[in-house]
Amino acid sequence: MKIILANPRGFCAGVNMAIDSLEHALALFGTPIYAYHEIVHNRPVVERFRKRGVVFVDSIEEVPESGTVLYSAHGVSPVIREASERRRLRAIDATCPLVTKVHTEAVRYAREGYTIVLIGHEGHDEVVGTMGEAPHHIVLVEDEEDVERLDLPADAKVAYLTQTTLSVDETQSIIAALKRRFPQVAGPAKDDICYATQNRQEAVHELVPEGDMVLVLGSQNSSNSMRLAEIARQHGKPAHLIDGVAELRDEWFAGAEVVLVTAGASAPEDVVSACVTYLRVKFGAEVESRTVREEHVSFPLPRELRALTVVR
Ligand code: SF4
Repeated sequence: MKIILANPRGFCAGVNMAIDSLEHALALFGTPIYAYHEIVHNRPVVERFRKRGVVFVDSIEEVPESGTVLYSAHGVSPVIREASERRRLRAIDATCPLVTKVHTEAVRYAREGYTIVLIGHEGHDEVVGTMGEAPHHIVLVEDEEDVERLDLPADAKVAYLTQTTLSVDETQSIIAALKRRFPQVAGPAKDDICYATQNRQEAVHELVPEGDMVLVLGSQNSSNSMRLAEIARQHGKPAHLIDGVAELRDEWFAGAEVVLVTAGASAPEDVVSACVTYLRVKFGAEVESRTVREEHVSFPLPRELRALTVVR
């Protein structure tokens, strides 16, 4: 067996920053400490923090007054920030700057009187946060059919934004449908899909023809991880999205000579290494690392933590 290890894979700059933020907050303030929503959409990461005393909540009311709360990499809507202020919480904002950029655009378009069409997945934390910036100005579309169903005149003042972790190809089709209905539509130069999502998808597109099957490390609620498995299947290759080595099934590898291994932007490298080690031991697999694109992106810690670090 040969394993092709796709590069880039795994942690992106936003996830690194969010996890570092929670580490710093734990060191500075100790427990109890609260995270509003999963800090990143990855079960092993969340479980490790949970064991260290981090409490993950889905409602700000669950955080005791004057407590410390971290907002996840996916961002929050203004009503959550206001609720935190009312409870006099110490709030640390670990929203990825690339998500914040979409929020800022939503606020700007709403102020300028646009109806904003947000391309994204209903109920995803990031979409909930972005829509909360201008709830009366944003409509959500998930596919081309939703675009056809939009109840807007052809000459409407429309702009579009996208979730950061979508399929590049599907999003282009939806944007094309929008442009057919509203040729005047305003929007970003291309879309708001982040560099990390694009690069991980590009690597799978490029390497998957060489593989017999694909292993994607990531959680079932991780949008960008799910897209990687989907791309593999679109190329006609079986793909399994798993959190870690405990979920591997030997029968998946029957007849597989080349296995492509990748990981979503929230999956830690140790879960990749554990799977690779298993395949080496069990099937005598050899590993070839293949880099499709270099990444050199990093984000600073949130302002609230930087200020405290300087004081110390
Ligand atoms: S996947 Fe992209 S938008 Fe999401 S945290 Fe990572 S860099 Fe930021």
